[in-house]
Amino acid sequence: MAGVQFAEVRKSFGAFPVIKGVNIDIADGEFVILVGPSGCGKSTLLRMLAGLENISAGEIRIGGRVVNTLPPKDRDIAMVFQNYALYPHMTVQQNMGFSLMLNKAPKAEAEKRVKYAAGILGLDALLDRYPRQLSGGQRQRVAMGRAIVRNPEVFLFDEPLSNLDAKLRVAMRAEIKELHQRLKTTTVYVTHDQIEAMTMADKIVVMHDGIVEQVGSPLELYDKPANLFVGGFIGSPAMNMIRGRLDPENAARFITADGTALPVANAPESAKGRDLVYGLRPEYILLDAGGLPGEIVVIEPTGYETHLSLKLGGTDLNCVFRERVNARPGESLHVAIDASHVHLFDAEGGQRLT
Ligand code: ATP
Repeated sequence: MAGVQFAEVRKSFGAFPVIKGVNIDIADGEFVILVGPSGCGKSTLLRMLAGLENISAGEIRIGGRVVNTLPPKDRDIAMVFQNYALYPHMTVQQNMGFSLMLNKAPKAEAEKRVKYAAGILGLDALLDRYPRQLSGGQRQRVAMGRAIVRNPEVFLFDEPLSNLDAKLRVAMRAEIKELHQRLKTTTVYVTHDQIEAMTMADKIVVMHDGIVEQVGSPLELYDKPANLFVGGFIGSPAMNMIRGRLDPENAARFITADGTALPVANAPESAKGRDLVYGLRPEYILLDAGGLPGEIVVIEPTGYETHLSLKLGGTDLNCVFRERVNARPGESLHVAIDASHVHLFDAEGGQRLT
Protein backbone atom coordinates (compact mmCIF):
# COMPACT_ATOMS: atom_id res chain seq x y z
CA MET A 1 0.00 0.00 0.00
CA ALA A 2 1.08 3.58 -0.52
CA GLY A 3 0.34 7.19 0.22
CA VAL A 4 -0.17 9.78 -2.51
CA GLN A 5 1.10 13.36 -2.67
CA PHE A 6 0.27 16.22 -4.99
CA ALA A 7 2.89 18.97 -4.66
CA GLU A 8 2.23 22.32 -6.37
CA VAL A 9 0.54 20.50 -9.23
CA ARG A 10 -0.58 22.58 -12.19
CA LYS A 11 -2.31 21.82 -15.45
CA SER A 12 -3.23 23.97 -18.41
CA PHE A 13 -5.10 23.00 -21.55
CA GLY A 14 -3.43 25.30 -24.07
CA ALA A 15 -3.31 28.70 -22.40
CA PHE A 16 -6.23 27.83 -20.09
CA PRO A 17 -5.16 26.89 -16.54
CA VAL A 18 -7.52 24.35 -14.93
CA ILE A 19 -5.37 23.19 -11.97
CA LYS A 20 -3.68 26.13 -10.28
CA GLY A 21 -1.16 24.82 -7.76
CA VAL A 22 -2.67 21.96 -5.79
CA ASN A 23 -1.14 20.39 -2.66
CA ILE A 24 -2.77 17.28 -1.19
CA ASP A 25 -1.26 14.71 1.15
CA ILE A 26 -3.02 11.35 1.24
CA ALA A 27 -1.88 8.85 3.86
CA ASP A 28 -1.42 5.16 3.25
CA GLY A 29 -4.81 3.44 3.49
CA GLU A 30 -6.82 6.64 3.60
CA PHE A 31 -10.13 7.13 1.74
CA VAL A 32 -9.99 10.62 0.26
CA ILE A 33 -12.76 12.24 -1.75
CA LEU A 34 -12.21 15.13 -4.15
CA VAL A 35 -15.45 17.07 -4.33
CA GLY A 36 -16.50 20.26 -6.07
CA PRO A 37 -18.86 21.67 -8.68
CA SER A 38 -18.74 20.68 -12.33
CA GLY A 39 -15.62 21.99 -14.06
CA CYS A 40 -13.57 22.59 -10.87
CA GLY A 41 -10.83 20.23 -12.09
CA LYS A 42 -11.34 17.15 -9.92
CA SER A 43 -11.45 14.65 -12.80
CA THR A 44 -8.38 16.24 -14.36
CA LEU A 45 -6.53 15.82 -11.06
CA LEU A 46 -7.54 12.16 -10.85
CA ARG A 47 -6.59 11.55 -14.47
CA MET A 48 -3.16 13.08 -13.81
CA LEU A 49 -2.72 10.71 -10.88
CA ALA A 50 -3.72 7.82 -13.14
CA GLY A 51 -1.27 8.93 -15.83
CA LEU A 52 -4.02 9.58 -18.38
CA GLU A 53 -3.24 13.31 -18.52
CA ASN A 54 0.21 14.85 -18.35
CA ILE A 55 1.22 17.36 -15.70
CA SER A 56 2.14 20.96 -16.61
CA ALA A 57 4.09 21.61 -13.38
CA GLY A 58 4.66 20.19 -9.90
CA GLU A 59 5.03 16.64 -8.69
CA ILE A 60 2.77 13.66 -8.07
CA ARG A 61 4.12 10.88 -5.85
CA ILE A 62 2.74 7.41 -5.17
CA GLY A 63 4.43 5.52 -2.34
CA GLY A 64 7.10 8.22 -2.24
CA ARG A 65 8.04 7.70 -5.91
CA VAL A 66 7.59 10.58 -8.40
CA VAL A 67 5.28 9.29 -11.14
CA ASN A 68 5.02 12.41 -13.36
CA THR A 69 6.21 10.65 -16.49
CA LEU A 70 5.47 7.05 -15.55
CA PRO A 71 3.01 5.28 -17.90
CA PRO A 72 -0.35 4.32 -16.30
CA LYS A 73 0.40 0.59 -16.32
CA ASP A 74 3.50 1.10 -14.17
CA ARG A 75 1.78 3.13 -11.45
CA ASP A 76 0.22 0.21 -9.57
CA ILE A 77 -3.23 1.79 -9.53
CA ALA A 78 -6.66 0.58 -10.61
CA MET A 79 -9.35 2.94 -11.77
CA VAL A 80 -13.14 2.55 -11.75
CA PHE A 81 -14.89 4.81 -14.24
CA GLN A 82 -18.34 6.36 -14.30
CA ASN A 83 -19.40 4.28 -17.34
CA TYR A 84 -17.77 1.10 -15.90
CA ALA A 85 -15.98 0.50 -19.26
CA LEU A 86 -16.77 -3.24 -19.26
CA TYR A 87 -16.03 -5.31 -22.37
CA PRO A 88 -19.46 -6.24 -23.76
CA HIS A 89 -18.30 -9.44 -25.46
CA MET A 90 -16.68 -10.85 -22.31
CA THR A 91 -18.35 -12.59 -19.38
CA VAL A 92 -18.09 -11.23 -15.85
CA GLN A 93 -15.29 -13.70 -15.15
CA GLN A 94 -13.38 -12.68 -18.29
CA ASN A 95 -13.90 -8.98 -17.61
CA MET A 96 -12.54 -9.37 -14.11
CA GLY A 97 -9.60 -11.53 -15.13
CA PHE A 98 -8.64 -9.61 -18.27
CA SER A 99 -5.91 -7.43 -16.78
CA LEU A 100 -4.34 -10.46 -15.10
CA MET A 101 -4.29 -12.26 -18.43
CA LEU A 102 -2.61 -9.25 -20.05
CA ASN A 103 0.01 -9.35 -17.31
CA LYS A 104 0.48 -13.07 -17.98
CA ALA A 105 -0.49 -14.09 -14.44
CA PRO A 106 -0.59 -17.90 -14.01
CA LYS A 107 -4.10 -19.20 -14.74
CA ALA A 108 -4.63 -20.74 -11.30
CA GLU A 109 -3.57 -17.52 -9.58
CA ALA A 110 -5.88 -15.44 -11.82
CA GLU A 111 -8.82 -17.73 -11.10
CA LYS A 112 -8.14 -17.54 -7.37
CA ARG A 113 -8.10 -13.74 -7.43
CA VAL A 114 -11.27 -13.48 -9.52
CA LYS A 115 -13.01 -15.89 -7.16
CA TYR A 116 -11.87 -13.90 -4.15
CA ALA A 117 -13.12 -10.60 -5.61
CA ALA A 118 -16.39 -12.19 -6.76
CA GLY A 119 -16.90 -13.49 -3.23
CA ILE A 120 -16.36 -10.08 -1.65
CA LEU A 121 -18.72 -8.41 -4.13
CA GLY A 122 -21.43 -11.08 -4.19
CA LEU A 123 -20.85 -11.86 -7.87
CA ASP A 124 -20.24 -15.63 -7.57
CA ALA A 125 -23.49 -16.56 -9.27
CA LEU A 126 -23.01 -14.12 -12.14
CA LEU A 127 -19.56 -15.06 -13.39
CA ASP A 128 -20.84 -16.50 -16.69
CA ARG A 129 -23.10 -13.60 -17.57
CA TYR A 130 -22.38 -10.84 -20.07
CA PRO A 131 -22.58 -7.15 -19.07
CA ARG A 132 -25.89 -6.70 -20.98
CA GLN A 133 -27.42 -9.33 -18.69
CA LEU A 134 -26.58 -7.36 -15.54
CA SER A 135 -28.30 -4.55 -13.64
CA GLY A 136 -26.57 -1.19 -13.20
CA GLY A 137 -25.50 -2.05 -9.67
CA GLN A 138 -24.10 -5.43 -10.75
CA ARG A 139 -22.12 -3.80 -13.58
CA GLN A 140 -20.74 -1.37 -11.05
CA ARG A 141 -19.65 -4.29 -8.89
CA VAL A 142 -17.94 -5.97 -11.82
CA ALA A 143 -16.03 -2.75 -12.51
CA MET A 144 -14.91 -2.75 -8.87
CA GLY A 145 -14.06 -6.44 -9.09
CA ARG A 146 -11.82 -5.74 -12.02
CA ALA A 147 -9.96 -3.21 -9.88
CA ILE A 148 -9.76 -5.51 -6.85
CA VAL A 149 -8.24 -8.50 -8.69
CA ARG A 150 -5.22 -6.38 -9.53
CA ASN A 151 -4.52 -5.80 -5.85
CA PRO A 152 -3.21 -2.30 -6.58
CA GLU A 153 -1.49 0.17 -4.25
CA VAL A 154 -4.21 2.76 -4.94
CA PHE A 155 -7.85 2.66 -6.11
CA LEU A 156 -9.14 5.58 -8.16
CA PHE A 157 -12.88 6.14 -8.58
CA ASP A 158 -14.29 8.72 -10.99
CA GLU A 159 -17.97 9.40 -10.16
CA PRO A 160 -18.66 5.66 -10.01
CA LEU A 161 -22.25 5.99 -8.79
CA SER A 162 -23.61 8.71 -11.03
CA ASN A 163 -25.35 6.30 -13.44
CA LEU A 164 -27.31 4.58 -10.68
CA ASP A 165 -30.73 5.52 -9.33
CA ALA A 166 -30.96 7.22 -5.94
CA LYS A 167 -31.74 4.11 -3.90
CA LEU A 168 -29.00 2.00 -5.45
CA ARG A 169 -26.55 4.86 -4.99
CA VAL A 170 -27.13 4.81 -1.25
CA ALA A 171 -26.65 1.03 -1.14
CA MET A 172 -23.45 1.16 -3.23
CA ARG A 173 -22.08 3.96 -1.06
CA ALA A 174 -22.21 1.61 1.90
CA GLU A 175 -20.70 -1.24 -0.15
CA ILE A 176 -17.73 0.82 -1.29
CA LYS A 177 -17.13 2.04 2.23
CA GLU A 178 -17.27 -1.48 3.56
CA LEU A 179 -14.93 -2.64 0.83
CA HIS A 180 -12.43 -0.02 1.87
CA GLN A 181 -12.72 -1.01 5.52
CA ARG A 182 -11.97 -4.57 4.49
CA LEU A 183 -9.12 -4.01 2.02
CA LYS A 184 -7.70 -0.78 3.50
CA THR A 185 -6.30 0.21 0.12
CA THR A 186 -5.52 3.91 -0.37
CA THR A 187 -8.50 5.31 -2.29
CA VAL A 188 -8.98 8.56 -4.20
CA TYR A 189 -12.59 9.12 -5.21
CA VAL A 190 -14.07 11.94 -7.27
CA THR A 191 -17.66 13.15 -6.99
CA HIS A 192 -19.65 16.36 -7.31
CA ASP A 193 -22.08 15.06 -4.67
CA GLN A 194 -21.31 16.47 -1.24
CA ILE A 195 -23.51 13.89 0.49
CA GLU A 196 -21.47 11.09 -1.09
CA ALA A 197 -18.33 12.85 0.13
CA MET A 198 -19.67 13.40 3.65
CA THR A 199 -20.88 9.84 4.12
CA MET A 200 -17.90 7.95 2.69
CA ALA A 201 -14.66 9.87 3.12
CA ASP A 202 -12.02 9.80 5.84
CA LYS A 203 -10.88 13.10 4.40
CA ILE A 204 -12.55 15.49 1.94
CA VAL A 205 -10.75 17.84 -0.44
CA VAL A 206 -13.11 20.64 -1.52
CA MET A 207 -12.10 22.04 -4.90
CA HIS A 208 -13.32 25.11 -6.74
CA ASP A 209 -12.04 26.63 -9.94
CA GLY A 210 -8.75 24.69 -10.00
CA ILE A 211 -7.73 25.28 -6.39
CA VAL A 212 -8.18 23.44 -3.09
CA GLU A 213 -10.52 25.44 -0.85
CA GLN A 214 -10.21 23.21 2.23
CA VAL A 215 -9.08 19.76 3.32
CA GLY A 216 -10.55 18.08 6.39
CA SER A 217 -12.67 15.32 7.84
CA PRO A 218 -16.38 15.50 6.94
CA LEU A 219 -17.32 16.93 10.33
CA GLU A 220 -14.44 19.43 10.36
CA LEU A 221 -15.72 20.85 7.08
CA TYR A 222 -19.26 20.88 8.39
CA ASP A 223 -18.45 22.50 11.72
CA LYS A 224 -15.68 24.86 10.60
CA PRO A 225 -15.91 25.69 6.91
CA ALA A 226 -12.87 27.82 6.05
CA ASN A 227 -14.78 30.16 3.79
CA LEU A 228 -18.11 31.04 2.19
CA PHE A 229 -17.62 28.59 -0.65
CA VAL A 230 -17.11 25.56 1.60
CA GLY A 231 -19.89 26.71 3.95
CA GLY A 232 -22.31 26.87 1.03
CA PHE A 233 -21.14 23.68 -0.65
CA ILE A 234 -21.10 21.29 2.32
CA GLY A 235 -24.46 20.60 3.99
CA SER A 236 -27.94 19.96 2.66
CA PRO A 237 -30.24 21.88 2.64
CA ALA A 238 -27.61 24.58 2.21
CA MET A 239 -26.44 27.02 4.88
CA ASN A 240 -28.32 30.33 4.95
CA MET A 241 -25.98 33.19 4.02
CA ILE A 242 -27.14 36.57 5.25
CA ARG A 243 -25.34 39.81 4.48
CA GLY A 244 -25.06 42.58 7.04
CA ARG A 245 -22.67 43.78 9.71
CA LEU A 246 -21.78 43.22 13.32
CA ASP A 247 -23.33 45.85 15.60
CA PRO A 248 -20.62 48.54 16.18
CA GLU A 249 -21.64 48.62 19.88
CA ASN A 250 -22.31 44.95 20.57
CA ALA A 251 -20.39 41.95 19.22
CA ALA A 252 -23.29 39.64 20.16
CA ARG A 253 -25.63 41.27 17.62
CA PHE A 254 -25.56 40.96 13.85
CA ILE A 255 -27.65 43.50 11.91
CA THR A 256 -28.91 42.24 8.55
CA ALA A 257 -29.01 44.54 5.50
CA ASP A 258 -32.74 45.14 6.21
CA GLY A 259 -32.15 45.93 9.89
CA THR A 260 -33.16 42.66 11.59
CA ALA A 261 -31.02 41.80 14.64
CA LEU A 262 -29.71 38.21 14.86
CA PRO A 263 -27.77 36.69 17.78
CA VAL A 264 -24.05 35.87 17.65
CA ALA A 265 -21.82 34.06 20.13
CA ASN A 266 -18.02 34.26 20.18
CA ALA A 267 -17.50 37.07 17.67
CA PRO A 268 -14.21 38.88 18.30
CA GLU A 269 -14.57 42.42 19.64
CA SER A 270 -12.38 43.55 16.73
CA ALA A 271 -15.15 42.58 14.28
CA LYS A 272 -17.60 45.18 15.65
CA GLY A 273 -18.99 47.29 12.82
CA ARG A 274 -17.48 45.06 10.10
CA ASP A 275 -19.35 43.96 6.96
CA LEU A 276 -19.87 40.20 7.30
CA VAL A 277 -21.87 37.26 6.07
CA TYR A 278 -23.85 35.42 8.74
CA GLY A 279 -23.86 31.68 8.00
CA LEU A 280 -26.67 29.74 9.63
CA ARG A 281 -27.36 26.08 8.99
CA PRO A 282 -31.11 25.33 8.65
CA GLU A 283 -31.08 22.88 11.56
CA TYR A 284 -29.90 25.50 14.06
CA ILE A 285 -33.11 27.47 13.72
CA LEU A 286 -35.42 26.17 16.43
CA LEU A 287 -39.14 26.46 17.12
CA ASP A 288 -39.58 28.79 20.11
CA ALA A 289 -42.88 30.44 21.03
CA GLY A 290 -40.97 33.29 22.68
CA GLY A 291 -38.58 33.79 19.76
CA LEU A 292 -38.43 35.98 16.65
CA PRO A 293 -41.62 36.18 14.57
CA GLY A 294 -41.46 35.04 10.95
CA GLU A 295 -43.92 34.33 8.14
CA ILE A 296 -44.08 30.91 6.50
CA VAL A 297 -43.43 31.10 2.75
CA VAL A 298 -43.16 27.40 1.88
CA ILE A 299 -43.66 24.32 4.04
CA GLU A 300 -42.43 20.86 2.99
CA PRO A 301 -43.15 17.88 5.27
CA THR A 302 -40.74 14.98 4.63
CA GLY A 303 -42.14 12.64 7.28
CA TYR A 304 -39.42 12.78 9.89
CA GLU A 305 -38.42 16.40 9.30
CA THR A 306 -40.17 19.55 8.16
CA HIS A 307 -38.37 21.81 5.72
CA LEU A 308 -39.63 25.32 5.72
CA SER A 309 -38.86 28.69 4.17
CA LEU A 310 -39.50 31.50 6.62
CA LYS A 311 -39.49 35.24 6.02
CA LEU A 312 -37.83 36.95 8.97
CA GLY A 313 -37.89 40.73 8.44
CA GLY A 314 -36.68 41.00 4.86
CA THR A 315 -34.67 37.77 5.00
CA ASP A 316 -35.76 34.36 3.70
CA LEU A 317 -34.42 31.58 5.92
CA ASN A 318 -34.34 27.87 5.06
CA CYS A 319 -35.20 25.92 8.21
CA VAL A 320 -35.16 22.21 9.02
CA PHE A 321 -37.19 21.17 12.06
CA ARG A 322 -36.84 17.63 13.42
CA GLU A 323 -40.54 17.42 14.06
CA ARG A 324 -43.88 17.87 12.35
CA VAL A 325 -45.11 21.42 12.01
CA ASN A 326 -48.84 21.95 11.60
CA ALA A 327 -49.01 25.25 9.77
CA ARG A 328 -49.66 26.78 6.35
CA PRO A 329 -47.97 29.36 4.16
CA GLY A 330 -48.83 32.90 5.27
CA GLU A 331 -49.10 31.93 8.94
CA SER A 332 -46.61 33.16 11.47
CA LEU A 333 -44.07 31.05 13.31
CA HIS A 334 -41.70 32.02 16.12
CA VAL A 335 -38.14 30.77 16.03
CA ALA A 336 -34.89 31.06 17.97
CA ILE A 337 -31.40 30.82 16.56
CA ASP A 338 -28.75 28.68 18.21
CA ALA A 339 -26.08 31.39 18.26
CA SER A 340 -23.31 28.98 19.23
CA HIS A 341 -23.57 27.43 15.75
CA VAL A 342 -23.47 30.65 13.74
CA HIS A 343 -20.59 31.05 11.26
CA LEU A 344 -19.23 34.51 10.41
CA PHE A 345 -17.39 35.15 7.15
CA ASP A 346 -15.66 38.24 5.88
CA ALA A 347 -18.01 39.88 3.35
CA GLU A 348 -15.24 40.73 0.95
CA GLY A 349 -12.76 37.80 0.92
CA GLY A 350 -15.24 35.23 2.19
CA GLN A 351 -12.82 33.85 4.83
CA ARG A 352 -14.13 32.48 8.11
CA LEU A 353 -13.68 34.97 10.94
CA THR A 354 -12.67 32.75 13.84
P1 ATP B 1 -17.23 17.39 -13.87
O1 ATP B 1 -17.81 17.13 -12.53
O2 ATP B 1 -18.19 18.14 -14.76
O3 ATP B 1 -16.64 16.19 -14.53
P2 ATP B 1 -14.60 18.29 -13.09
O4 ATP B 1 -14.49 19.04 -11.83
O5 ATP B 1 -14.22 16.87 -13.06
O6 ATP B 1 -16.05 18.45 -13.67
P3 ATP B 1 -12.67 18.55 -15.18
O7 ATP B 1 -13.29 17.51 -16.06
O8 ATP B 1 -11.44 18.20 -14.46
O9 ATP B 1 -13.73 19.08 -14.14
O10 ATP B 1 -12.42 19.84 -16.04
C1 ATP B 1 -11.82 21.01 -15.53
C2 ATP B 1 -11.77 22.07 -16.60
O11 ATP B 1 -10.87 21.65 -17.63
C3 ATP B 1 -13.08 22.35 -17.28
O12 ATP B 1 -13.19 23.73 -17.48
C4 ATP B 1 -12.97 21.60 -18.57
O13 ATP B 1 -13.74 22.23 -19.58
C5 ATP B 1 -11.50 21.69 -18.88
N1 ATP B 1 -11.01 20.53 -19.66
C6 ATP B 1 -11.03 19.23 -19.27
N2 ATP B 1 -10.46 18.44 -20.20
C7 ATP B 1 -10.06 19.25 -21.21
C8 ATP B 1 -9.38 19.04 -22.47
N3 ATP B 1 -9.01 17.82 -22.85
N4 ATP B 1 -9.15 20.13 -23.23
C9 ATP B 1 -9.50 21.37 -22.83
N5 ATP B 1 -10.12 21.63 -21.66
C10 ATP B 1 -10.40 20.59 -20.86
